[in-house]
Amino acid sequence: MKQKKFGTHGPDVSVIGQGTWYLDRGDRKAAVAALRRGIETGMTHIDTAEMYGDAELVIADAIAGLPREKLFLVSKVLPSNASRRGAITACERSLKRLKTDHLDCYLLHWRGSYPFEETVAAFDELVAAGKIRSWGVSNFDSDDLDELLDVAGEGKIACNQVLYHLQERAIEHAVIPWCEKHGVAVVAYSPFGHNDFPPARSKGGEVLQALADAHKASPRQVALAFLTRLSSVLAIPKASSVEHAAENAGAGDLKLSDAEIAALDKAFPRGPKPRGLPML
Ligand code: NAP
Repeated sequence: MKQKKFGTHGPDVSVIGQGTWYLDRGDRKAAVAALRRGIETGMTHIDTAEMYGDAELVIADAIAGLPREKLFLVSKVLPSNASRRGAITACERSLKRLKTDHLDCYLLHWRGSYPFEETVAAFDELVAAGKIRSWGVSNFDSDDLDELLDVAGEGKIACNQVLYHLQERAIEHAVIPWCEKHGVAVVAYSPFGHNDFPPARSKGGEVLQALADAHKASPRQVALAFLTRLSSVLAIPKASSVEHAAENAGAGDLKLSDAEIAALDKAFPRGPKPRGLPML
């Protein structure tokens, strides 16, 4: 599994990680086994949120007994809890549910109404207390990032987690360039389009299949390799079975040629810059 630096100041983190939204809804044992297999195959970057029901509890079961320092755990505070005190309480709740003593990164899930000064002060206090190693944001457009940078200063924002898949490449216009300029990791969420992966019989699906055949890989592995082709971008697909987790981890060592990237770029065009940043 390839590793990438998590922003300019962060540690090396697995380029393919594991999402956990809705992972608590199906068979719990299968979900724990999927996460475990994912970790064993190198997907040690695990993403969750206080919003994701019992996903934090599922993760706690999956990581029980594993060396904590080998994992990179990320959770998120809801905007409605992102006040000076609320963010600290929310983080402590997440730590308890995850049965761990620190998060590697803690994110503001999306921009809400609390002033950035409050949330940043809470994040700084959590860092000082050793409860989080770093903090970042999610669903921030470049103008939101500009405003946050004015409050936090350079070198403080570890990552921006944003919607990015073959059929939704809006972040390539302004968000990725902004993050690269300021040393902020870009984490691609819903890399398979949530539940909308290009069907095998579609034009794009055929391009994916041809590239997959050439690499003895799968279309989803090709998609993940394309999305993580830039040094700033990591991806966090969610899988509920050991088979899916193992397949996704296989993308961590797949490298596409410039010609293959160009073929995907043509099959799934970037499109014009939308007015607002798309999010789920
Ligand atoms: P996703 O990862 O794009 O897609 C998940 C879907 O793909 C599930 O139906 C899953 O099925 C299927 N799948 C996964 N691996 C597969 C494989 N190898 N073969 C066939 N099907 C496969 O969707 P997502 O869950 O929306 O996004 C990933 C993660 O990003 C989330 O879980 C969450 O952690 C994060 N996220 C963050 C935000 C935010 O606002 N920050 C928003 C959305 C998501 P199975 O479940 O059956 O394996």
